[in-house]
Amino acid sequence: MTKIIDGKAISMQIKEEIKKEAASLKEQGKNVTLAVIQVGDNPASCVYVRNKKKGCEYIGIGSLSYELKEETTQEELLSLIRELNAREDVNGILVQLPLPAHIDEDTVIREIDPKKDVDGFHPQSVGALCIGQPGFVSCTPAGIIELLKRSGVSLEGKECVILGRSNIVGKPMARLLLAENGTVTVCHSRTSNMDEILQEAEIFVAAVGRPKFFHGSQFREGTVIIDVGIHRDENGICGDVDFESCQGIASYITPVPGGVGPMTIAMLLYNTLRAYEHQHGLSGGEKRA
Ligand code: NAP
Repeated sequence: MTKIIDGKAISMQIKEEIKKEAASLKEQGKNVTLAVIQVGDNPASCVYVRNKKKGCEYIGIGSLSYELKEETTQEELLSLIRELNAREDVNGILVQLPLPAHIDEDTVIREIDPKKDVDGFHPQSVGALCIGQPGFVSCTPAGIIELLKRSGVSLEGKECVILGRSNIVGKPMARLLLAENGTVTVCHSRTSNMDEILQEAEIFVAAVGRPKFFHGSQFREGTVIIDVGIHRDENGICGDVDFESCQGIASYITPVPGGVGPMTIAMLLYNTLRAYEHQHGLSGGEKRA
């Protein structure tokens, strides 16, 4: 029987843990704050930013919100980031992506102080992950590792297949599974023998960005299927995997919605607490999800 991994419940567990940590810091007069910057009014970004602010409120940390107009220049955005980098009362900085086309995302990400890079996108954070050193990890893949661990799925020695090699999901996912002693294969649009590779997967992570791209018949019995995709249409929300066709084939599967999605915000809040601790020389600063 296929078990459904309940991302909502697991993300709530994590938020409750962080809420206790935040309350304990507050009792000592220590306030944690996340700054969230949005440029323009992309509807999906508005939803994500609203949920991030709600998450801060729920766990009892501060959030500063910067809603900049679409025409904001790159220099204006960089100048705001520099100001936030310098502020001692700001512990984490998040710039909601995508940015308008006239702003270079790489330049903006590089401007964030790596000590406040709670999204884990700065080259220094990515480099630390690649060589197994402490640092912030991109929230979605970090959340997937938590989902697997908290569901009791063992990763050691497993054939792990990732479909997608983006900087925010596929590549960090590969590094994290490797760090858990999985044997990792990453597929992408130029992979020629994807069907053969999928048949070998014991752990499969779908981050292809195409609705219901994968079907249960492509997997062997017992595969653990993690679906990162989010697609909205007139029928509602679906993932990269055709969920129904995997019933009875997968040993575990994440639903969309309610699987990977809720974990991303939980890990962002987790990273913000770690940032505070690291900046204040508290012991938790070296912990990694
Ligand atoms: P992306 O940057 O578009 O990357 C997609 C990857 O899939 C690329 O590596 C691409 O290969 C590969 N690909 C595309 N078509 C393919 C095909 N026909 N055959 C084989 N490989 C193919 O996407 P992303 O940012 O990683 O996001 C993936 C999905 O996850 C999206 O639906 C996104 O909305 C969702 N997402 C969800 C969360 C969450 O919190 N749940 C967070 C982030 C993203 P090439 O590299 O060769 O082009």
